[in-house]
Amino acid sequence: MRTIAIANQKGGVGKTTTAVNLSACLARAGYRTLLVDLDHQTNASDHLGIDSPEDEALSSWALLAESRPNVQAIIQPVSPNLMIAPGHIALAEIDLELQSVIAREVRLRKALTLVADQFDYTIIDCAPSVGVATVNALCAAYRVIIAIQTNRFAFGAVKRLMKIISDVRESINPELGFYALATLHRSNVNIHRDVLAKLQEFFGDLTLNAVIRHTATLAEASANRQSIVDYAGGSKGHLDHQTLMEELISRVERTTTKQKTQAI
Ligand code: ADP
Ligand code: MG
Repeated sequence: MRTIAIANQKGGVGKTTTAVNLSACLARAGYRTLLVDLDHQTNASDHLGIDSPEDEALSSWALLAESRPNVQAIIQPVSPNLMIAPGHIALAEIDLELQSVIAREVRLRKALTLVADQFDYTIIDCAPSVGVATVNALCAAYRVIIAIQTNRFAFGAVKRLMKIISDVRESINPELGFYALATLHRSNVNIHRDVLAKLQEFFGDLTLNAVIRHTATLAEASANRQSIVDYAGGSKGHLDHQTLMEELISRVERTTTKQKTQAI
């Protein structure tokens, strides 16, 4: 199982849209996919028409808060090959809840190992903050996708996140890598093209070639509580996420092969 976290402590940059639609594309392509909604706003769950359970023990909250969560009771089916660990408002207080818990950063990682053989990919939708939930996501992940909107380069937030990624890599998760993904992109607007160029210059090869363009259909799909795959198959928004999925798989598999070769 490969775990990919979608992060940026800035809100409204397209994290949830990417997490949901990437998951839907993976599932449609036949990969057994688990989407973990780690945001107390539960936007990813809402997007897929899944109501947050009343009992927080049946939500992703328990993956962090409980040392032996009942993962099978938490995950629920969305569509063929796609399951979700829904979010819960209780996640808003998870920092307080875990403040004196030993090894609190690796709760999610441990919980996910319990279902590792059931899924090919786990996608984690992070909250717009770097609290204990996001750190858990970084400790559990193989790769982080930093979603960056191209209307304004919020460099400060991205740099802070990169520092945390580097700390997590040094202390807990040495395999962790990241990619930058341009989101909400409008290629006909000068500032968007400038920011995209800056992004490519700054991140180099770590910038994904896939770009998620701004398109009303993606927002409509969310309002209709459907993934873009189900809401508007073949649309621009669907194609962009399909391209992202293909690139991600090829990059992840490429590094795996390279590492294996090096190991030999
Ligand atoms: P985040 O999870 O980072 O807060 P969201 O994915 O929820 O961001 O996106 C914020 C808002 O922008 C939502 O209303 C969403 O529907 C809309 N949105 C996201 N990506 C796009 C896009 N590529 N084109 C148009 N609207 C988008
Ligand atoms: Mg979100």
